[in-house]
Amino acid sequence: MSDIKTTLTTAPKALPPSDQLGFGQYFTDHMFVAKYMEGKGWYDAQILPYGPLPLDPGASVFHYGQALFEGMKAFRQADGKIVFFRPEFNHDRMAQGAERMCLEAPPLDLFMQGLHELVKVDQRWIPHEPNTALYIRPTLIGTESFLGVRPSRETMFFILLSPVGSYYSEGTKPVKIWTEEKYLRAAPGGLGAVKAGANYASSLKAALEAKKKGYAQVLWLDVEHQGIEEVGTMNVFFVFKNEIVTPALNGSILNGGTRDAIIELLHSKNLPIVERKITITEVVERLQKGELLEAFGTGTAAVISPIGELHYQGKDWVINGGQTGELSTKLYNEITSIQRGQMPDTQGWIT
Ligand code: PMP
Repeated sequence: MSDIKTTLTTAPKALPPSDQLGFGQYFTDHMFVAKYMEGKGWYDAQILPYGPLPLDPGASVFHYGQALFEGMKAFRQADGKIVFFRPEFNHDRMAQGAERMCLEAPPLDLFMQGLHELVKVDQRWIPHEPNTALYIRPTLIGTESFLGVRPSRETMFFILLSPVGSYYSEGTKPVKIWTEEKYLRAAPGGLGAVKAGANYASSLKAALEAKKKGYAQVLWLDVEHQGIEEVGTMNVFFVFKNEIVTPALNGSILNGGTRDAIIELLHSKNLPIVERKITITEVVERLQKGELLEAFGTGTAAVISPIGELHYQGKDWVINGGQTGELSTKLYNEITSIQRGQMPDTQGWIT
């Protein structure tokens, strides 16, 4: 498959005000769509005006939740160059997720071709202002129409683009986190390690209840209500006096691209980063002893999101005086500078 048919919109939209982009509120003029059918392979790759998809109401995505997505970004660098941050990582994660979800993953060349062509067509949508980017949402759904639970023999792959602003106007701002002891995001053997839509459906109620109590996100624990998994839709890091700890990928944690990049950066600085199981009891005990210097979440959207306060069993524990820590700031600045071409890309993350 190499030919992408392009149909340009006849009604391009006005660009949104770039200082009020927020996150995920606007979609660009076009989308990329490709289809797969067992026995036929991938076909009908197209760039189309953004709009509704014709889907049969019997499609497996609506009934059995066969849906998987990715989240990544493109940046406009100072010299005008448009770059992607580690797109192969996202393709790889989508391919692994597709295997778990019994969906067909697009081959790397189709994924990259769709991405490049679509961003080229919609490049006027990539905002110029500092701390803005083009968020990219590759999505995979089961489209075969049938009832009775089995994998769909048809898959649709589409890519949407959304210009986004900074998660926080001043870069990184500490947030209040609720340690969730009632709801679980994922369990061993489940879907936690892949970006299945179902994980987000199961996370909504806990996030909503935490928000009502005044917390920005929840800290997800494992099935024993002890092991720390993730924070909101981010991976989590704890900076102790003698080591930096992030939960090991245990099968129910998503392998975040930002997590991976940060581990690489920390290794390159010879900082003591450890991937291991870490419990909420250990974190609170070390917090009480003054050994926890910083804690932060990592993800494509915010890059680094410091944890200023952690609620656990009736108590709010303040971390680093509720301020953004030194290491959080440093890592945020380095990753965003590499993305924006203000620092050399020694790790080979930029395409
Ligand atoms: N965990 C979950 C559950 C997520 O949704 C995300 C966002 N994709 C992450 C972690 C962070 O992953 P990444 O750094 O690849 O954005």
